[in-house]
Amino acid sequence: LGTDVFDEAVRSTCDVASHCKRYAISVGYWKDPYIEYFVSHPKERKAPEISRGYYARVQGVGRLLKAFLEKTKCNCQIINLGAGMDTLFWKLKDENLLPMKYFEIDFPSIVSRKIHYIKSKPPLSKPIMESHSGETLLIDAHGLDSSRYAIIGGDLRDLPRLEEKLKKCHMDPDLPTLLMTECVLIYMTTEHSTCLIKWVGGMFRSAMFINYEQVNMADRFGQIMIENLQSKQCELVGADACRSLDTQKERFLIHGWETVNALDMLKVYQSLPPDDIKRNVQNSLITSGNCPRNDMVWRGNGTFQSSPERSVPELITA
Ligand code: SAM
Repeated sequence: LGTDVFDEAVRSTCDVASHCKRYAISVGYWKDPYIEYFVSHPKERKAPEISRGYYARVQGVGRLLKAFLEKTKCNCQIINLGAGMDTLFWKLKDENLLPMKYFEIDFPSIVSRKIHYIKSKPPLSKPIMESHSGETLLIDAHGLDSSRYAIIGGDLRDLPRLEEKLKKCHMDPDLPTLLMTECVLIYMTTEHSTCLIKWVGGMFRSAMFINYEQVNMADRFGQIMIENLQSKQCELVGADACRSLDTQKERFLIHGWETVNALDMLKVYQSLPPDDIKRNVQNSLITSGNCPRNDMVWRGNGTFQSSPERSVPELITA
């Protein structure tokens, strides 16, 4: 498969993720007043298991991130790798939890689209202006650099260029740094994602890396990409790197990270506020026409499978 076609399929996962999030938000799984500025309302319903999966993912990542901000008293920087249409900057600003600087990186075409929305929608541009001080804010079609928010068009596989662009936007290797990849490394080859993990490990004096991704996807990843590409010739990409939680941990440990924890999303889901979970199960019953049982597992290919021991979707999402 050609690189261009493959990259285009990877970029399309940005739309899948933001549409699923927008849908789950619109039916009440969690609140996000900014997503509507980046994504139109999806025409078709999403399976309740998908919405619950996204809810667990967003809350799980959000909890770790807030713990980091608390520990560093916001005297830190956040680098969101493969950020897509993420709205975190705006939500943190509302909660008065902005780090010293928040960076986002994605492919240039995704970044151009995001910048277009930011420029044309005051609820997005105003918070950036309000948090900006000092010199002129730099903005063009491929990047934006303000005092507290920067968005950079680049390729996570080209680390020298990425480092150069981040430094130009005043990334500070001495500041405690939170790196996050939410459903991103799986779309890179093991070789490329390993280089990224290594680069981060060696770049910052003190850093934390939040990585959310599927494990044991060897036989399912092809399916997702095939759906995206409508082609049967897809390679398996990151699947080798993530056969289990242990292999996930190992790849960080052998590439310069001192401590690594890996959590099954079922555990994360069970640790979320019980009232939210109860509301979301009720929500699932209302939003699905045919009342899925709570012990059914969403298989990612449009089918449910009864599962006595799992009560959360396996997170087959982009
Ligand atoms: N993190 C966002 C979220 O959870 O809503 C988006 C997730 S989406 C599944 C994966 C994102 O990673 C896409 O926006 C894609 O363009 C980006 N991405 C994947 N590989 C990349 C690369 N090599 N360079 C830059 N961005 C990349």
